[in-house]
Formats: sequence, structure tokens, C-alpha cells
Amino acid sequence: MIFVWKKEITEAQKEILKEQWKKRGMLFRENSNGMLFVVKGDFSHAEREYFSSEMEFSSSYPLVSRQFQKEDLELKVNGHSFGRDSFTMIAGPCAVESEKQVMEIARFLSSKGLYFMRGGAYKPRTSPYAFQGLEEKGLEDLQKAKDETGLLIVSECTSVSHLEECLQHVDIIQIGARNMQNFELLKAVGHTNKPVLLKRGMSNTIEEWLLSAEYIVSEGNPNVILCERGIRTFEQEMRNTLDLSAVALVKQKTYLPVIVDPSHATGRADLVLPMSYASLAAGADGLLIELHPHPEQAQCDGRQSLSFEEFDELMQHLSSMVSLFGKKL
Ligand code: PEP
Ligand code: MN
Repeated sequence: MIFVWKKEITEAQKEILKEQWKKRGMLFRENSNGMLFVVKGDFSHAEREYFSSEMEFSSSYPLVSRQFQKEDLELKVNGHSFGRDSFTMIAGPCAVESEKQVMEIARFLSSKGLYFMRGGAYKPRTSPYAFQGLEEKGLEDLQKAKDETGLLIVSECTSVSHLEECLQHVDIIQIGARNMQNFELLKAVGHTNKPVLLKRGMSNTIEEWLLSAEYIVSEGNPNVILCERGIRTFEQEMRNTLDLSAVALVKQKTYLPVIVDPSHATGRADLVLPMSYASLAAGADGLLIELHPHPEQAQCDGRQSLSFEEFDELMQHLSSMVSLFGKKL
């Protein structure tokens, strides 16, 4: 329920009351208009006297809904924005393969003016026999790339047991599609204030996706970026089906930034450019792109990875398109 304070209640009184309610185990957040969103617990009859009105939530994920915040969130990560008028690029290899590979990619991205680099150190692979990532060594390689170029690092954390280590090296923690409903992991990242890139599960509804974001935000971390990465359908030509209507719809439902990963959504490098432009047109706030200096030699996801030349072409086209959609790169 949402409660609106009576005008005569002073700020000091509000603070005392909020402390009491917290001690009682109630969970609530106040929005920028001073409306109290109570997501756990209830007020007594007498306590309701503090409020001039109360209303129902319009969705099952009140704290990430537009009811809580009307304007788009501008999420700043070390001074670089996601959301509002920014169109933010994150690019890099599917997996960190070696220090040399990561440095080559980092230097390239930095020369193209990017601020964010992705790279998987812990890889969630379908087969137990596939390359599982360099793990801690991968995070250290990413750190070296960051130290040299200043690029901020986006990398997936697959388990609560790796979270401490990921927090040390990573600027944005990625929660992958397979872990979108790993509720312990969601709660654990919710207890930090590290920005979280929350991918949509390959078989999850929009409501489930937003409820996962609600887990993180309700635990106290408001820094969530959503990422559409394609869903499973009957179609076999592409790895997944890019649900761009979800991007437009989720932008209506939430104020959180929404980006698109056309690499995993299509599984094909030849579709990454057209789907990137379509994502911009659908209202996305940025892109997560896989690239590799030699896609044919990549240890994973080479078929969907752009070469440096293809990435160049993407950036050139985007730079002339973004302003048409009220964005800047
Ligand atoms: C990835 O981004 O490396 C990845 C594994 O993606 P997803 O979780 O979307 O499959
Ligand atoms: Mn990948």
C-alpha cells in the first residue's frame, strides 16, 4: 500500500516513526514526493491517522514501477550514465581467455571512446565439458585492463560464493539469464550498492524479470540495469528470439535503464548490427555487444561475436542515429 503523510506531520516526527517501524520489521521506501511505499508489514488503526490517504500498488513490483518514480532513472557508474538521454555501449569478449586477449580488446575499445568493457571470468556453460572461464585469474586480467585503460568492467557473478571476489574487481555485476531467479544471489547483490546488470531469463516473463529487479531494490540496492537478451521460441534459425516489444513495454513499466544484448539474442554476428539499430528505435538505453579480435578462434560464442571492423561499422552508424531518438552516445 502507498501512504501519503498528513501535512502537519513534521520531518522529525516522520524520522522517529520510521525508526520504530523498521525495528518492527516493516519494509518501506519513500519516493521523491514523500509517498511511503510499504512492501512488508502493516500499520495499526491508530497509525493510519498519520496519513491523509492510502492506495493500492498498481503492480506486484511497486519499488521498480513508474508509480514509485515517474522519471527515468539516470544511473551513474563512476560518472558515466545509463538511462535518460544516454545510449551506453558495453562491449567485449564472451569470455576472458588470456591477459593478451583482454588487453588487445581493452585498447581497441578505449580507442573507440567506450567507457565499459564486458568479459566473462565465471562462465555459466550448458555443458560441464565446455570452457568454464578463467575464474579468479580472469577477474585479475580484467583488472589489469581497467588499470591501463580506465575502462569500467562488467562481468558475471554466477554464485554467492564468488560475490566478494567479483565486487573487488568489477564495476557492474552481471546476473546472467540462467541466474535471473537465483534468489539468494539477487538478495546478496541487493545488500551491496554495486550496480547490477540483470539479464532476462530465456524463459521468463516480463513480470518475473521485474520481480527479480524488485528483489534487488527491496534489499536496498537501487542501482539496477535491465538487459533483454532474447527468449526461447520455436524458431531455430536464431539462438533466441529478440523480444524488442518487451523493451518498449518494460520502459513503460519501470524507470530503470533497459539495455539490449543482440549477441546472445540472435547468436549470429550478421544480425547484431540490424538488431542494434532496432533496439535503439525500440527505446533501449544501450547495448551489450560481444566482440573478439578473431571471432573464429573464440573459446565461446565466436559465431555471435563481432570483429573489430564490424564493431567500427556499428559505432559509426549508431553515432549518426542516436540523436534521432533523443539520445547521445
Ligand atoms: C553472457 O553475457 O556472457 C551470457 C552468458 O549471457 P546470458 O546470461 O544472457 O546467456
Ligand atoms: Mn556469450
